[in-house]
Amino acid sequence: SKPSNKWQRVLLKVSGEALAGDQKQNIDPKVTMSIAREVASVTRLGIEVAIVVGGGNIFRGASWAGCSGLDRSSADHIGMLATVMNAIFLQATMESIGIPTRVQTAFRMSEVAEPYIRRRAIRHLEKGRVVIFAAGTGNPFFTTDTAAALRCAEINAEVLLKATNVDGVYDDDPRHNPSASLLDNLSYEDVTSGDLSVMDMTAITLCQENNIPVVVFNLTKHGNISKAIMGERVGTLIGR
Ligand code: UDP
Repeated sequence: SKPSNKWQRVLLKVSGEALAGDQKQNIDPKVTMSIAREVASVTRLGIEVAIVVGGGNIFRGASWAGCSGLDRSSADHIGMLATVMNAIFLQATMESIGIPTRVQTAFRMSEVAEPYIRRRAIRHLEKGRVVIFAAGTGNPFFTTDTAAALRCAEINAEVLLKATNVDGVYDDDPRHNPSASLLDNLSYEDVTSGDLSVMDMTAITLCQENNIPVVVFNLTKHGNISKAIMGERVGTLIGR
Protein backbone atom coordinates (compact mmCIF):
# COMPACT_ATOMS: atom_id res chain seq x y z
CA SER A 1 0.00 0.00 0.00
CA LYS A 2 1.40 3.32 -1.11
CA PRO A 3 1.46 5.97 1.63
CA SER A 4 -0.16 9.31 0.84
CA ASN A 5 3.05 11.26 1.18
CA LYS A 6 4.69 13.18 -1.61
CA TRP A 7 7.77 11.03 -2.16
CA GLN A 8 8.15 7.30 -2.40
CA ARG A 9 11.94 7.13 -2.69
CA VAL A 10 14.32 9.84 -1.48
CA LEU A 11 18.05 10.43 -1.40
CA LEU A 12 19.19 12.07 1.82
CA LYS A 13 22.61 13.74 1.76
CA VAL A 14 24.19 14.15 5.19
CA SER A 15 27.40 16.14 5.28
CA GLY A 16 30.27 15.17 7.51
CA GLU A 17 30.04 18.51 9.27
CA ALA A 18 26.43 17.87 10.20
CA LEU A 19 27.46 14.57 11.82
CA ALA A 20 29.95 16.39 14.00
CA GLY A 21 27.20 18.52 15.55
CA ASP A 22 28.69 20.98 17.99
CA GLN A 23 31.03 18.38 19.45
CA LYS A 24 34.81 18.55 19.43
CA GLN A 25 34.88 14.95 18.28
CA ASN A 26 34.38 13.98 14.65
CA ILE A 27 30.99 12.41 15.24
CA ASP A 28 28.28 13.34 17.70
CA PRO A 29 26.31 10.19 18.58
CA LYS A 30 23.31 12.38 19.45
CA VAL A 31 23.23 13.53 15.83
CA THR A 32 23.51 10.03 14.35
CA MET A 33 20.80 8.83 16.74
CA SER A 34 18.42 11.64 15.82
CA ILE A 35 18.99 10.94 12.13
CA ALA A 36 18.31 7.24 12.75
CA ARG A 37 15.11 7.95 14.68
CA GLU A 38 13.71 10.29 12.06
CA VAL A 39 14.61 7.94 9.22
CA ALA A 40 12.99 5.08 11.16
CA SER A 41 9.76 7.03 11.49
CA VAL A 42 9.41 7.37 7.71
CA THR A 43 10.67 3.95 6.64
CA ARG A 44 7.89 2.54 8.82
CA LEU A 45 5.45 4.33 6.51
CA GLY A 46 6.99 2.60 3.52
CA ILE A 47 9.08 5.48 2.20
CA GLU A 48 12.37 4.26 0.74
CA VAL A 49 15.41 6.11 2.03
CA ALA A 50 18.91 6.05 0.59
CA ILE A 51 21.65 8.11 2.22
CA VAL A 52 24.90 9.57 0.92
CA VAL A 53 27.29 10.57 3.69
CA GLY A 54 30.05 13.14 3.44
CA GLY A 55 33.40 13.05 5.15
CA GLY A 56 34.31 16.66 5.83
CA ASN A 57 34.23 16.09 9.61
CA ILE A 58 37.25 13.82 9.23
CA PHE A 59 39.14 14.70 6.07
CA ARG A 60 38.65 16.98 3.10
CA GLY A 61 40.94 16.14 0.20
CA ALA A 62 41.21 19.61 -1.29
CA SER A 63 42.45 21.21 1.93
CA TRP A 64 45.20 18.62 2.42
CA ALA A 65 46.37 18.35 -1.19
CA GLY A 66 49.93 19.61 -1.46
CA CYS A 67 50.86 18.91 2.17
CA SER A 68 54.04 16.84 2.44
CA GLY A 69 53.82 15.86 -1.20
CA LEU A 70 50.26 14.55 -0.98
CA ASP A 71 48.78 14.84 -4.45
CA ARG A 72 45.10 15.67 -4.87
CA SER A 73 44.09 12.17 -5.94
CA SER A 74 45.70 10.55 -2.90
CA ALA A 75 44.18 13.20 -0.63
CA ASP A 76 40.78 12.52 -2.14
CA HIS A 77 41.22 8.78 -1.61
CA ILE A 78 41.68 9.54 2.09
CA GLY A 79 38.60 11.78 1.97
CA MET A 80 36.53 8.99 0.46
CA LEU A 81 37.73 6.60 3.16
CA ALA A 82 36.53 9.15 5.71
CA THR A 83 33.01 8.86 4.32
CA VAL A 84 33.18 5.08 4.86
CA MET A 85 33.91 5.63 8.56
CA ASN A 86 30.85 7.86 8.86
CA ALA A 87 28.74 5.35 6.95
CA ILE A 88 29.69 2.47 9.25
CA PHE A 89 28.93 4.58 12.31
CA LEU A 90 25.56 5.62 10.94
CA GLN A 91 24.75 2.04 9.95
CA ALA A 92 25.52 0.80 13.46
CA THR A 93 23.29 3.50 14.94
CA MET A 94 20.42 2.68 12.58
CA GLU A 95 20.67 -1.03 13.27
CA SER A 96 20.79 -0.41 17.03
CA ILE A 97 17.21 0.85 16.78
CA GLY A 98 16.11 -1.91 14.45
CA ILE A 99 16.39 -0.36 10.97
CA PRO A 100 17.96 -2.87 8.59
CA THR A 101 20.72 -0.93 6.84
CA ARG A 102 23.27 -1.75 4.16
CA VAL A 103 26.41 0.17 3.34
CA GLN A 104 27.58 0.11 -0.28
CA THR A 105 30.96 1.55 -1.15
CA ALA A 106 31.93 3.08 -4.48
CA PHE A 107 35.20 1.16 -4.41
CA ARG A 108 35.60 -2.32 -3.07
CA MET A 109 36.15 -2.94 0.64
CA SER A 110 34.25 -6.18 0.64
CA GLU A 111 35.22 -7.29 4.14
CA VAL A 112 33.58 -4.15 5.47
CA ALA A 113 30.65 -3.35 3.21
CA GLU A 114 28.98 -4.35 -0.03
CA PRO A 115 30.31 -2.91 -3.25
CA TYR A 116 27.95 -0.49 -4.98
CA ILE A 117 25.66 -2.49 -7.24
CA ARG A 118 22.79 -0.40 -8.51
CA ARG A 119 20.25 -3.19 -8.86
CA ARG A 120 21.11 -4.59 -5.48
CA ALA A 121 20.74 -1.17 -3.89
CA ILE A 122 17.28 -0.82 -5.41
CA ARG A 123 16.34 -4.29 -4.20
CA HIS A 124 17.39 -3.38 -0.64
CA LEU A 125 15.24 -0.24 -0.80
CA GLU A 126 12.26 -2.22 -2.08
CA LYS A 127 12.66 -4.57 0.88
CA GLY A 128 12.50 -1.61 3.26
CA ARG A 129 16.20 -1.45 4.05
CA VAL A 130 18.05 1.81 4.24
CA VAL A 131 21.06 1.95 1.92
CA ILE A 132 24.01 4.15 2.79
CA PHE A 133 26.24 4.97 -0.14
CA ALA A 134 29.83 5.53 0.96
CA ALA A 135 33.11 6.52 -0.69
CA GLY A 136 31.45 9.23 -2.76
CA THR A 137 31.58 8.57 -6.49
CA GLY A 138 34.75 6.51 -6.05
CA ASN A 139 36.66 9.12 -8.02
CA PRO A 140 38.94 11.90 -6.86
CA PHE A 141 38.08 15.52 -7.81
CA PHE A 142 34.41 14.97 -7.00
CA THR A 143 32.34 15.72 -3.91
CA THR A 144 29.78 13.79 -1.98
CA ASP A 145 27.16 16.30 -3.19
CA THR A 146 27.94 15.09 -6.69
CA ALA A 147 27.79 11.50 -5.45
CA ALA A 148 24.36 12.30 -3.99
CA ALA A 149 23.12 13.72 -7.30
CA LEU A 150 24.56 10.74 -9.20
CA ARG A 151 23.11 8.06 -6.93
CA CYS A 152 19.81 9.92 -6.84
CA ALA A 153 19.60 9.76 -10.63
CA GLU A 154 20.79 6.15 -10.79
CA ILE A 155 18.29 4.73 -8.31
CA ASN A 156 15.44 6.94 -9.58
CA ALA A 157 14.97 8.71 -6.28
CA GLU A 158 12.48 11.54 -6.68
CA VAL A 159 14.28 14.20 -4.69
CA LEU A 160 17.67 15.05 -3.27
CA LEU A 161 17.33 16.21 0.34
CA LYS A 162 20.46 18.07 1.37
CA ALA A 163 20.69 18.23 5.15
CA THR A 164 22.84 21.08 6.44
CA ASN A 165 23.18 23.07 9.63
CA VAL A 166 21.46 26.20 8.31
CA ASP A 167 17.76 26.62 7.56
CA GLY A 168 18.20 26.69 3.80
CA VAL A 169 19.62 29.03 1.17
CA TYR A 170 19.84 32.70 2.15
CA ASP A 171 20.39 35.78 -0.01
CA ASP A 172 23.45 36.50 2.16
CA ASP A 173 25.44 34.67 4.85
CA PRO A 174 23.12 34.58 7.90
CA ARG A 175 26.06 34.08 10.27
CA HIS A 176 27.46 37.47 9.28
CA ASN A 177 24.40 39.37 8.13
CA PRO A 178 21.45 39.06 10.58
CA SER A 179 19.04 40.60 8.06
CA ALA A 180 19.78 37.95 5.43
CA SER A 181 16.54 36.32 4.31
CA LEU A 182 15.75 32.70 3.63
CA LEU A 183 14.82 31.94 0.03
CA ASP A 184 11.87 29.53 -0.30
CA ASN A 185 12.26 28.70 -3.98
CA LEU A 186 15.12 28.89 -6.42
CA SER A 187 15.62 27.80 -9.99
CA TYR A 188 18.68 25.80 -11.02
CA GLU A 189 19.79 28.89 -12.94
CA ASP A 190 19.63 31.03 -9.77
CA VAL A 191 22.15 28.64 -8.28
CA THR A 192 24.41 28.16 -11.30
CA SER A 193 24.52 31.82 -12.33
CA GLY A 194 24.56 33.53 -8.95
CA ASP A 195 27.03 33.36 -6.13
CA LEU A 196 24.77 31.46 -3.75
CA SER A 197 26.87 28.69 -2.28
CA VAL A 198 24.47 25.76 -2.28
CA MET A 199 26.44 22.90 -3.76
CA ASP A 200 29.25 22.64 -6.27
CA MET A 201 28.57 23.23 -9.94
CA THR A 202 29.06 19.58 -10.94
CA ALA A 203 26.40 18.49 -8.44
CA ILE A 204 23.81 21.15 -9.27
CA THR A 205 24.13 20.80 -13.04
CA LEU A 206 23.72 17.03 -12.72
CA CYS A 207 20.47 17.69 -10.82
CA GLN A 208 19.39 20.21 -13.42
CA GLU A 209 20.10 17.92 -16.37
CA ASN A 210 18.13 15.12 -14.74
CA ASN A 211 15.39 17.34 -13.39
CA ILE A 212 16.00 16.31 -9.78
CA PRO A 213 14.50 18.74 -7.25
CA VAL A 214 16.84 19.63 -4.38
CA VAL A 215 15.65 20.58 -0.89
CA VAL A 216 18.22 22.29 1.33
CA PHE A 217 17.16 22.16 4.96
CA ASN A 218 18.36 22.24 8.57
CA LEU A 219 19.03 18.84 10.09
CA THR A 220 19.69 20.25 13.55
CA LYS A 221 16.02 21.19 14.02
CA HIS A 222 14.11 18.33 15.54
CA GLY A 223 11.61 16.78 13.14
CA ASN A 224 13.04 18.40 10.03
CA ILE A 225 14.49 15.24 8.50
CA SER A 226 11.19 13.42 8.71
CA LYS A 227 9.34 16.52 7.46
CA ALA A 228 11.66 16.81 4.47
CA ILE A 229 11.33 13.10 3.72
CA MET A 230 7.54 13.30 4.02
CA GLY A 231 7.52 16.08 1.45
CA GLU A 232 6.43 18.82 3.85
CA ARG A 233 7.55 22.33 3.06
CA VAL A 234 10.91 22.89 4.76
CA GLY A 235 14.02 24.89 3.84
CA THR A 236 14.70 25.93 0.24
CA LEU A 237 13.38 24.08 -2.79
CA ILE A 238 15.51 24.23 -5.94
CA GLY A 239 13.94 23.09 -9.15
CA ARG A 240 12.53 24.25 -12.44
N1 UDP B 1 35.64 12.74 -2.24
C1 UDP B 1 36.13 12.37 -3.49
N2 UDP B 1 35.27 11.94 -4.45
C2 UDP B 1 33.92 11.88 -4.24
C3 UDP B 1 33.42 12.28 -2.99
C4 UDP B 1 34.29 12.70 -2.00
O1 UDP B 1 37.35 12.40 -3.71
O2 UDP B 1 33.20 11.46 -5.16
C5 UDP B 1 36.58 13.09 -1.16
C6 UDP B 1 37.06 14.52 -1.21
O3 UDP B 1 38.41 14.55 -0.79
C7 UDP B 1 36.19 15.20 -0.18
C8 UDP B 1 36.04 14.13 0.87
O4 UDP B 1 35.97 12.93 0.10
O5 UDP B 1 36.79 16.36 0.36
C9 UDP B 1 34.84 14.24 1.79
O6 UDP B 1 33.68 14.50 1.04
P1 UDP B 1 32.94 15.94 1.08
O7 UDP B 1 33.93 17.02 1.25
O8 UDP B 1 32.03 16.00 -0.09
O9 UDP B 1 32.09 15.77 2.41
P2 UDP B 1 31.07 16.79 3.12
O10 UDP B 1 31.42 18.19 2.70
O11 UDP B 1 29.70 16.43 2.67
O12 UDP B 1 31.25 16.52 4.56
